[in-house]
Amino acid sequence: METIQTDVVIVGAGGAGLRAAIALAEADPALRVALVSKVYPMRSHTCAAEGGAAGVIKSDDSLDHHFNDTVGGGDWLSDQDAVEYFIREAPKELIQLEHWGCPWSREANGSVAVRPFGGMKKQRTWFAADKSGFHILHTLFQTSLQFASIRRFDEYYATELLLDEGRCVGLTAIEMRSGQMRRFDARAVIIAGGGAGRMFPFTTNGAIKTGDGMALAYRAGAPLKDMEFVQYHPTGLPSTGTLLTEACRGEGGVLLNKNGRRFLQDYGMGPETPVGKPVLKTMELGPRDRVSQAFWQEQKKGNMIPTQWGDAMLLDLRHLGEKMIDERLPLVRDMSISYMGVDPVKDPVPVRPVVHYMMGGIHTDLRAATTVPGLYAAGECACVSINGANRLGSNSLTELLVFGRRAALSAIEYLQSGVRAASDGVLAARAAAAQGRIRELMQRTGGGETVAGVRKEMMQAMEQHAGIYRSGEGLAAACAKLSELRGRYSRIELHDKTNVYNTDLLQALELGSMLDCAEAVTQSALARRESRGAHQRLDFIERDDQNFLRHTMASYHPSEPPRIGYRDVVITTSQPGVRDYSGGHE
Ligand SMILES: Cc1cc2nc3c(=O)[nH]c(=O)nc-3n(C[C@H](O)[C@H](O)[C@H](O)COP(=O)(O)OP(=O)(O)OC[C@H]3O[C@@H](n4cnc5c(N)ncnc54)[C@H](O)[C@@H]3O)c2cc1C
Repeated sequence: METIQTDVVIVGAGGAGLRAAIALAEADPALRVALVSKVYPMRSHTCAAEGGAAGVIKSDDSLDHHFNDTVGGGDWLSDQDAVEYFIREAPKELIQLEHWGCPWSREANGSVAVRPFGGMKKQRTWFAADKSGFHILHTLFQTSLQFASIRRFDEYYATELLLDEGRCVGLTAIEMRSGQMRRFDARAVIIAGGGAGRMFPFTTNGAIKTGDGMALAYRAGAPLKDMEFVQYHPTGLPSTGTLLTEACRGEGGVLLNKNGRRFLQDYGMGPETPVGKPVLKTMELGPRDRVSQAFWQEQKKGNMIPTQWGDAMLLDLRHLGEKMIDERLPLVRDMSISYMGVDPVKDPVPVRPVVHYMMGGIHTDLRAATTVPGLYAAGECACVSINGANRLGSNSLTELLVFGRRAALSAIEYLQSGVRAASDGVLAARAAAAQGRIRELMQRTGGGETVAGVRKEMMQAMEQHAGIYRSGEGLAAACAKLSELRGRYSRIELHDKTNVYNTDLLQALELGSMLDCAEAVTQSALARRESRGAHQRLDFIERDDQNFLRHTMASYHPSEPPRIGYRDVVITTSQPGVRDYSGGHE
């Protein structure tokens, strides 16, 4: 098997992976960095981010405000030491991007512009029109090209981490063009594999977001933390799930039910504010969990509008005017016309909540280190945790930068502690075993199960039982379904047995990752008998700090459901309180 010798290998070339690679290369040009990605870097999901990235910059804002918004928005499940580090580093990272060439939108006086975002009580979201992720990723990508020490392996699919005496010492990956397995020897590995929204059928997430990074670490012994917290974004297009950014509401868009009522005032997010003037904290700028839950309640009351794709509400941007929409929300206009045939300049756009983001992920500490020595994680696949039970929009892009860099610095410290590479014999044996597992899957016959069949049933179970509102009964049914599907997964048979770009094989592997993540979600959700943030139980409607002000830790078991344990939340200054979005004009 061809072997690539490196010092650090990174899985993922999205925002978190690229930021980590740059930090490694800047710190020590002699380090050999391998950047492994199943797609070309610019096709990573970071490219799809629209609204912007949060960081304190304006004189009426403060780090304390950003801290309080994030911790309260997360329903006090965030680790407050991690949030403190995050908010301090955030502005530095956004200014660093500016210096690398990110074309942030500006105020008339030339200073960086910021926009309001949900759950943020001050304006602090930096943006580049509504293509912020595209510009951020492009800036990182072009910066990474300066460094000869970063070697890219585009269209390589990582299949397993290699372990030696409990340390992570490399990985195996399939070169998709040839179908050949490659062995990457390393002294440290950083996972930056992104989210897992594709385990649900209706999601804003690109097709590649199948939780591979989470599954790689999980199977190698790193627990998945707080997986029950799955974020629904309130405004997806009902036809495709394509996102209409929260910036639509940040710029002053309003949400209407079938009676033309701005219904959020009925769900603790009032009082009604003047149309066209976004008022921070209230109404359409409530946090995502609360706004999505209000959609669900309105549906029960029969207040939604039927469309050919199911019930929807209306997002009305007309009062913003064509000039403003074209300047600040051009992509939103394009997508509404292309996917719905609705021009937001002329008509309100139907929208409904859609699976968007995983608050949970690979458990890491403040240094982005997992529990496996030599293994680090950053970005959406990781849970450090700053987002707690509900992420505020625009904190994620900044998180990629802050903790992508942090993972790199921690990996360097680890290397400097004198850690040596594993022996060739150990690596060869581990890699051969990983290759054997792929070969077995390729050659399997007579199993009778298909990737598409198992995937469809998994998605149905997730949508039906692990959505905006959940119940113990439903979650138990989902857990049972997923364990049945796990058994059937081992009987999946591939139709395509060839080597070159074998998408049948890759989709089978991605399905394996999603099943692992889905089981962690449902088992963690079943065990959390309270309602907090994005996890709402119809049978336990109150938040229960006595028993559940704790992180859920799901540990992998190859043939049984995950073991569920708990870990204390780090509280520094903010004791759990009431989340109040009902007033406070700014
Ligand atoms: C439509 C949309 C809009 C959003 N808008 C915003 C916003 O405005 N503000 C905000 O803060 N957040 C936003 N988010 C969330 C944010 O964009 C994501 O959380 C973030 O970009 C994830 O970045 P990442 O680097 O962790 O992963 P990604 O950018 O998803 O990259 C993952 C990388 O991992 C690689 N990978 C995965 N599996 C494997 C494997 N098996 N082998 C090799 N490589 C692998 C992929 O190739 C890819 O390069 C948005 C999300 C979506 C979906």
